[in-house]
This record gives sequence, C-alpha cells and structure tokens, in this order.
Amino acid sequence: METGFPDEPSEAHFQICDQAADILGATVDGNGLKANQLRLAKHDTSVYPLTGEISVTLSVSVREEERPGKNAVGPQLDGRRELQEKLSSVDPDVLNNPALTENIMGVIANDPGKGWALDNTKIRLKEGEKTYCVFEDCKSCAGRSWQTCIPCDGTGLDICLKCNGTGQIQNHNTGNFETCFACKGRERVQCMPCKGTGRILCTTCKATGSFTVVANVFYEAVLEFIPDDAGLDDNVRSIIAHFTPRKMATDGHAEIFADTATVQEGRIHIPLMAHLPVGLAEFQIAGKTVPAVIAGLNANVVEMEPFLDAAIKPGIVALTKISSGPMASGALIQAACRFRLLRRALADLESHTKKRVYYDIKDEYGAVMSDKYLQAAVKYADLALHKLGDGPRLRGFAIGTAVAGVLYALYFFMGAHATLAQTMATHIMVIDLAVLLAGFIAAYILVRMMATKTLQRILPPEIAPDGKHMAPAGVFGAYAFLATLLLWLMMALAAPDTPAWLADIVSRIKG
Ligand SMILES: [Zn+2]
Ligand SMILES: [Zn+2]
Ligand SMILES: [Zn+2]
Repeated sequence: METGFPDEPSEAHFQICDQAADILGATVDGNGLKANQLRLAKHDTSVYPLTGEISVTLSVSVREEERPGKNAVGPQLDGRRELQEKLSSVDPDVLNNPALTENIMGVIANDPGKGWALDNTKIRLKEGEKTYCVFEDCKSCAGRSWQTCIPCDGTGLDICLKCNGTGQIQNHNTGNFETCFACKGRERVQCMPCKGTGRILCTTCKATGSFTVVANVFYEAVLEFIPDDAGLDDNVRSIIAHFTPRKMATDGHAEIFADTATVQEGRIHIPLMAHLPVGLAEFQIAGKTVPAVIAGLNANVVEMEPFLDAAIKPGIVALTKISSGPMASGALIQAACRFRLLRRALADLESHTKKRVYYDIKDEYGAVMSDKYLQAAVKYADLALHKLGDGPRLRGFAIGTAVAGVLYALYFFMGAHATLAQTMATHIMVIDLAVLLAGFIAAYILVRMMATKTLQRILPPEIAPDGKHMAPAGVFGAYAFLATLLLWLMMALAAPDTPAWLADIVSRIKG
C-alpha cells in the first residue's frame, strides 16, 4: 500500500454515470425496452473525500514461567518491583520504532477494506519483546532447599514397629520376653523417609532453594478505526449507510488511502481517506427523463424511480390472465415470454422455490423495479405455470389412477395373488406392496408426463421442461399416492383371498 493521499481522484471516479448507463441498458434490454433506448442525458458527479484514522494503542503484557534453581535468562532484574515497573508504561523506543509502524501499516494494507471501518483489532507485536529474569527464594522451603521430615518431626528417629517401641519381643516358643532384634532394645529406629537426617529435600525447587522467574515481556497493539464524519452532509451520510461503511471499503465502492503514521500522546495515528464518487444523473429512457443517484466505483444505482415497472407491466398482465382465465392460452404465454425477466422467472420456478427466484431477480432488477412488481412477477409466473400444468396433471392423475386400478383388480381378482400366496408364501407381503407401489409409480409418472408434454407444447423451447427433467408433479403426486393406496386397500380387502398379513393388521386395529 502506497502511503500518502492523492491530490486528485482518478478519472474512473467521474465516469460512474456512464458506467451506470451501460449497466442499466443491459438490464432493461429485452425487458420491453432496447439497450439503445436508454442513454445518459447529463450528470453532475462529485467525489467526496471522507476522512478517518486508525488509532493504535500499545499495551504491555507479560507471560511468566517459573523454573527451579538460579539460571539467568536475559537481563536479571532486582525483583518483582522492577518487573512491575517494566510493565507499567510503554517504552518510548518501542512506540517510535519504525519497524513497528511498518508492521501495523502492513496489517492495514492486507485488510480487505484497507483499514476503513475496521473492527477493533488486537495484534501481538514482535517489536519490543524482551525476556527478563528475577531470582526468588522457594516459598515451600523458605530458601533452605530442605523441609523438616514430617513422620519423625525432624528427629531422624521413628518408633520401632516390631516391638511397638517397647524394646522387647515375646518369644513364641518359650513365652519369654527378649530384646527386640530390630531396634536392639533402643525402642526407636532410624526414620526411613529421611534416612535419619530429619530433613527431606524440597521437591518444589528441586532442592535448590530458589526459583528463576522468566518474564517474557511483549507488546500488543489495538487498532481502532475512528471516522471523522462531522462535516458530512446528509446525502453523503445516507449513501454511506446504503453501502454500510465497512462494505463501502471492502466491496470497492470507495477507494481507500492511508497517509504516513505519526506518534502523538502515546498513540500511533494513521490518517485514512476514502474517495466516494456520487453522481446526480439524468437518463433518457424511451423519450422520458428519469433522474437517478449513482454512487461508488461500481456505479450502483442508489436512488431511481422504478421505471421498468411500466415497461414490464404487459407481461405481468398476460401472466395474471393465464392464472385467472378459463383457458390456458399459448398466445398469452408468448406475450409474457417476450420479457427476459419473466422468461427467467418461469424457467427458474420449475426447479427453485418462489423465494429463491424472487431474491435472484431482485438482485438484478431491484434498482429499477419496485418490490411490488418484482413480487407480482414471481407470484403470477408461479400461478401461470400451475394453471398451465394442472389441467394435464389432473388428466394424468385420472388416467394413472385408472391404470393402477386395473392392475390391482387383475392382481387380486384374476388369481395372481392367490397363486403367489401359495408358491411364494414367505415373500407375499413384499410382493403385495410392490404391486401397490407399481400402481402408484404408474400414476405419478403419468401426472408428470402429461404436464411435461403440455408445457413443452406451450412454453418457448428454451424454458420448457426438457427430456431429462420432467415437470414436477406438485400436489398431484400426493393425490396419486392417496388414490392408489385407497384403491389397493379396497380391492385387497374385497378380494376372495384377502392377504393374511393385511387381515391380521385390520383385526388388530379393530381391537
Ligand atoms: Zn524449596
Ligand atoms: Zn524423618
Ligand atoms: Zn524395636
């Protein structure tokens, strides 16, 4: 990242309205208008310099480690007090270290928003890191390296356990008392844990009597973004809010610059500047003047009358006529499909949810169409598709259910079930259910086939269901399942030889 603010914004900033004209032209093209019916009539584009800064606060931290013995690591300090002094204030040499500033500038340069509207960020610094040591007496042994033996209380002697401290043992054979062989009559023996010394070596300090406190002192920097938006007028404020300050930088709507860092009052200050272009434009669209506010280097339309509503209205009306009319008309669907947006909605609705399709087209057309029209486009495209497909689906459902009924009748009443029940008795339940499933699948496929055939005839080829993807069955899939199940049950129960497993279930349900 180069430091320093530019004298002038680059030329691209002043071309956002021309750029917007190109984008808008492509958006309206094929949606009741042609790209060349839209042109930029005039514009007044300004670049707003927004300022702010990254304020960097340093803090000192320490990580301590205690090691037994006296082994100096780094400079030795006089004690804890001197260590506390090192931690109490930031070393001016560290604060003024050019390497540290460069390090922080690097963090800003690598940030996707170049530091603009950055969330408070804490980084650990290599600069100023130092290791000191402090020698301390071991607290467990008070620096003596040993502790008094607890079992003998420092005497080095313990009661003889063979004679219980009496010095005599009774002989089992003679019954006479004899001098204890273990303590030789002295009643006490050498204490085992301290081997008679009365002292145990201190394990805490590994018998050194001292500790070395190794103190790793390091610096951390907290980066805080402080905007300077005191002088901004309300229009610019609302444009920043439209993008959100952070996205304005990370999505490249504004170009961000950083100036040379300075140190003041114990902090590092890095001045930032953002160039935000804003254009007040007037477009000529099919002979009509439409004003708009264009902002950011991506030429976003921030404010504009939803002029595409009127252009696309005939297509939406055609869709409403299809969904509410008595007859599905190929001419009406062709009228709707003349609009790129509606073609896309119709095609996408075959494989995506209404919500998803709405958000997709809002993404592309949100700046030039009202929400009401966007919602209507999706809603009526969906209703029209249903209207077009539901007639054939109903026919498919009726034919499919009839086919399933014939299949079930043949199976249960023409002896197939009876024969199989005898020859393949162990598998008969699976076979019965497979017949049920076959009937349902036949009905389900007929529903989809009939809908696909009709939609292929009515819809333009590029959005009609193709050979690989049939039109969905919709609610008729569930109807087909319920109808075939019901038919199958009726016939199975009415058959001369009702499946035994089914009869069993029925009798259990009855109680
Ligand atoms: Zn110790
Ligand atoms: Zn002892
Ligand atoms: Zn003894």
